[in-house]
Amino acid sequence: MYTAQGNFTAPEKQQKLTQILLTRDSRFEYPNPASSLDTELAFLIPLVAGDKEMGILCLSSKTTRQAFSSDDIYLIQGLISVAAVSLRNALLLREVSIRDTFISIASHELRSPLTSIIGYAELLLRRQPPETTRQQWLTHIVDNGKRITSMADDLLNVTRIQTGKVSMKLEHVDLPEILNERLDMVKETSQKHEFFLKLDAGLPKALVDPDKFGQVVQNLLSNAVKYSPNGGLVVLSANRDATRNKVVVSVSDRGIGISPEDQEFLFITFHRIQRPETRGIRGSGLGLYIVKEWIEAMGGSVWLESELNKGSTFFVSVPASNSSNLN
Ligand code: ADP
Repeated sequence: MYTAQGNFTAPEKQQKLTQILLTRDSRFEYPNPASSLDTELAFLIPLVAGDKEMGILCLSSKTTRQAFSSDDIYLIQGLISVAAVSLRNALLLREVSIRDTFISIASHELRSPLTSIIGYAELLLRRQPPETTRQQWLTHIVDNGKRITSMADDLLNVTRIQTGKVSMKLEHVDLPEILNERLDMVKETSQKHEFFLKLDAGLPKALVDPDKFGQVVQNLLSNAVKYSPNGGLVVLSANRDATRNKVVVSVSDRGIGISPEDQEFLFITFHRIQRPETRGIRGSGLGLYIVKEWIEAMGGSVWLESELNKGSTFFVSVPASNSSNLN
């Protein structure tokens, strides 16, 4: 990750800078000038805190073309060492806050279903309830067991993403089959909602990991149900985007909607919107992060349109199969 100002702000220059940084070696670190790598670059100065390199300051040549004086360099060096320590502290703080959020969400999301399972199992051990009550208690046990499994799966998937261990098995797939299957699964979970599947007539196959794509669709559908607690229409659509050679799948609901400010943070791990309307709706805040990471790893993208208290539509685009990538 880097930020650029001055001479290297333009995207093509940033690309050039990235290339230089990737090819640099120890010869070019401060105080050696970097002008041998690029005439616009004066110095590459590592930001070191303790024994850790936090980043590199790339100084371009002065616009006046004058050389840097030794005073300039002392000043820059002093500022850089303070910046490196501040950066390290900020990163440490962020790590601690992510860990705290993780612990509080994970413990709540694991503990409360476990307490429920133990409670109903103990009741079953001690009492002889009528058959309908017994069925209800067993259903609670199964549902809460599923909640724990789903939380554990989310955590495992996040770990795989963050350690670069996601394995994508891309195949040329007919999407309607997957969409129908996942819609049927989510339909089972709500009697309040009406569900509708809308498919483009000439829908091409798509190049996706079928299992992960199915989980993405299911995730968006269950969010649509969860975040429209008063019910309403949930529409699952698939369309061809011929200009970009993509298939676009969308899920829309008539639920609580998301404000423009909140939309910015939706795809970050553990981020859950805190509003009176979301109180009591369960979740880990990991679903949309996984959706985005997986879809991008399939060569697609994710976006949304939403209006507060009116509803939301989430879109995912994935590469369409065509003669050049069909085999
Ligand atoms: P969660 O497990 O909390 O549902 P997600 O990562 O799937 O986690 O979603 C992150 C947050 O985005 C949710 O907590 C919710 O506030 C918001 N959100 C997701 N989908 C919708 C939707 N269809 N309508 C309104 N808000 C949504």
